[in-house]
Amino acid sequence: MSDVEVITGCPTPTRGGGVCKMRPTSSGYCLNHEPSRAEARQAERSRGGKLARARQALAKAKSEAIAKLGVDEELPDLADVERCQRYLVTVAQRVESRALSPMQANSLVGIVKLSKDLLGLQLDIKLAERLEELERQR
Ligand SMILES: [Zn+2]
Repeated sequence: MSDVEVITGCPTPTRGGGVCKMRPTSSGYCLNHEPSRAEARQAERSRGGKLARARQALAKAKSEAIAKLGVDEELPDLADVERCQRYLVTVAQRVESRALSPMQANSLVGIVKLSKDLLGLQLDIKLAERLEELERQR
């Protein structure tokens, strides 16, 4: 018997009753199970959840606008803030000219706001991922 332990793979137990066996890093664990990365993994999951919820909220607002208020217009690509603002100006103008009811306008404004939330979250996530990448490279 040798007193040198040979690490053949990540020792994290799996749900199936075995062990992970992925190639370990210098910590002895694989990248997915490295204890020092637990916090980063948790943050990744929580950001992913937020993004999924923001997408759902936006899809729901859009379908409600169509179903309840008969607002069935082609929404512009709301992928940047300037376009959102220009769009809001046209919504306000259409309320003034009575082409839209205030309620229809409110629901369009709500959709734009949700789009902005989603955009903000996506940017946050990109930034956080970039920072983590840099952190890992250090
Ligand atoms: Zn593992």
